[in-house]
Amino acid sequence: MDFQLNETEKLIQQTARDFATRELAPTAARRDAEGTFPLAELKKMAELGLMGVNVPEKWGGTEAGVVAYALAMMEISRACAATAVTMAVTNMVAEVICKFGTSEQIQRQVPRITSGEYSCGAFALSEPHCGSDASALRTSARRSERGWVLNGTKQFITSGDHAGVIVVWARTGGPGHRGISAFLVEKGTPGMSIGTVEKKMGLKGSTTVQLVFEDAEIPAEALLDEENRGFRIAMVALDGGRIGVGAQAVGIAQAALDEAVRYSRERQAFGAPLANKQAIQWMLADSATELEAARLLVLQAADCKGRGLPFTRQASMAKLFASEAANRICARAFQVHGGYGYIKEYPIERLVRDCRITTIYEGTSEVQRMVIARSLLDNA
Ligand SMILES: Cc1cc2nc3c(=O)[nH]c(=O)nc-3n(C[C@H](O)[C@H](O)[C@H](O)COP(=O)(O)OP(=O)(O)OC[C@H]3O[C@@H](n4cnc5c(N)ncnc54)[C@H](O)[C@@H]3O)c2cc1C
Repeated sequence: MDFQLNETEKLIQQTARDFATRELAPTAARRDAEGTFPLAELKKMAELGLMGVNVPEKWGGTEAGVVAYALAMMEISRACAATAVTMAVTNMVAEVICKFGTSEQIQRQVPRITSGEYSCGAFALSEPHCGSDASALRTSARRSERGWVLNGTKQFITSGDHAGVIVVWARTGGPGHRGISAFLVEKGTPGMSIGTVEKKMGLKGSTTVQLVFEDAEIPAEALLDEENRGFRIAMVALDGGRIGVGAQAVGIAQAALDEAVRYSRERQAFGAPLANKQAIQWMLADSATELEAARLLVLQAADCKGRGLPFTRQASMAKLFASEAANRICARAFQVHGGYGYIKEYPIERLVRDCRITTIYEGTSEVQRMVIARSLLDNA
């Protein structure tokens, strides 16, 4: 077992850390307060190779591997979780197109993502009536003379209003997961519009929107992989995406722990720094231990994926543990801050809000437990 990073992984980690420290951390509170989308920052991240970390170089990617991607996500999330979620979905979309696309689809879309020509990509699976039970989706795609016509509504789509390309899942056959296909839908497609722009608890520098399709016509070449085989693509994409959300949780939790350590050394109570109190020390120690365990689970899942080994269970375990641990770590860091934790001037308030979604999107904790239990029972 090798716990050492290779030179490429160290380079990507350092590149992401430098960018996050210099460009994202100082402006994260403002993005949160004003709800501004980080267009300029995303462009710079593409130039640094962060929009296709695990994408082949021939398509404009960095080809640095899955561990490098997870490390970069941790660094970006530590500074700005809202920018990180946009990065995560964009990397996921680029990887999905590389894995399932025709060479024409890859050549058309992937270099635009990795170069920053598109500010980001989006992934449209959830619908108003179904999130966890995604195979119940109702958005329909029917054949037309020119290709396909989409009708329906997608819910809670990260960056759906900014993305150059969106992977959209729609029903092309009967009920259940066997009747679903995936399509590449480009920004500006007539008949596709933005519905509700959600006002959220956190991640305010990222957008979460409804996408409405009303007789939206897309060409025949928009079909990704085979007709009625799209649900499998979503499941493969989500396995990888869960490594990204696990890494995001680790990054947010690291930031919260850093804040708790700093504050406990500065704040005086009963004639000594808070850090001298055993109750505070135990909170810090528990948080540091859980954070380390979360980091290792995420990197293990990333390593399995990078080696081409099965990683569905590892990704679900990493996402489940890291997201729940990160929420506990943020809550403890908040407690260490006393009343000041509740005040917007201190970053911990934003970290608590940003962290909360990590147990929900890309499969709730309950869904991760279903995936883990199924893999145990199927293998028994
Ligand atoms: C900020 C944000 C960004 C998002 N980005 C995207 C995106 O980019 N693309 C996209 O497609 N979706 C996105 N989503 C949607 C997200 O993936 C879903 O919200 C999530 O999968 C949960 O679905 P739901 O909200 O419909 O909850 P539901 O599925 O209705 O679940 C409600 C509760 O019931 C539990 N539950 C459901 N079924 C079971 C079961 N069988 N056993 C036990 N418990 C169960 C769930 O765990 C949860 O606690 C985003 C959501 C948010 C809030």
